[in-house]
Amino acid sequence: MPFIDFADLKSRIDIMQAARLLSLTLKPGGNQQRGPCPACNTGGERALVITPDRGLFYCFPAKTGGDLIKLAAHVKGCTQNEAAKFIAAKIGMTTEAPVKSNLQQPENGASKASDGQTGELKPLPYLEVEHPLVQALGISPATAKSFGSGYAGRGVLRGRLAVPIHDQNRELLAYAGVSVSKEQTPRLLFHNFDPASAIFNAHRLASAGDLYVYRDPLHVLLAVENGISPECVVSFLTDRISAQQFELLAALMHEKKVEPALFL
Ligand SMILES: [Zn+2]
Repeated sequence: MPFIDFADLKSRIDIMQAARLLSLTLKPGGNQQRGPCPACNTGGERALVITPDRGLFYCFPAKTGGDLIKLAAHVKGCTQNEAAKFIAAKIGMTTEAPVKSNLQQPENGASKASDGQTGELKPLPYLEVEHPLVQALGISPATAKSFGSGYAGRGVLRGRLAVPIHDQNRELLAYAGVSVSKEQTPRLLFHNFDPASAIFNAHRLASAGDLYVYRDPLHVLLAVENGISPECVVSFLTDRISAQQFELLAALMHEKKVEPALFL
């Protein structure tokens, strides 16, 4: 089989055209398209989110996302190479048939990069957003920075991705030290802080929108990395969820008038 240039392929088709090739059922919501994920078959009608402006998808139950080739690989359950070949064949790329050029693809993808950070946030001054161990988690410097997070080269969370936790008033409460490898335990480390007392990212939650709830702040960062608004993803900070934490979530739902989809 011929080698397929991923960049070339992506210049010939956009993610919404790829979604149609994959027969995805999507409904518009804001600047995104949502629908069920035929691969995961769980998570309901909002499991799969596509952000056309950024050419990205995110699957909440699978906690995975990326470009249109990764979308095809996820939906078809195959490798990216196989997915690229599938798309190339569908659009006639390998046979050099004329392909539809995609001229109306907007290039204004950087529209919401700088939200969230306020003057009240006091990040640890030494966190490294470009650290290779952070990028190995799938978190770009821009996303790490937008959360005020980064690799801690020293301090009590040394060797981990430090992610700040805020209360509803955007007051900095603590940092979660997220492990950067499977060997590093526990998965989340805290210092003088009860992780059951807060819901991560709740201070950014928008009213009357979607709410996706995870158990791990890393999944919140990954969702945002893949085009999900930081205003609709939160997480608990513990493996076991107590009644107190569900009460916190219930209060948040009530205040923000949202119905959550949980992906624990
Ligand atoms: Zn999926």
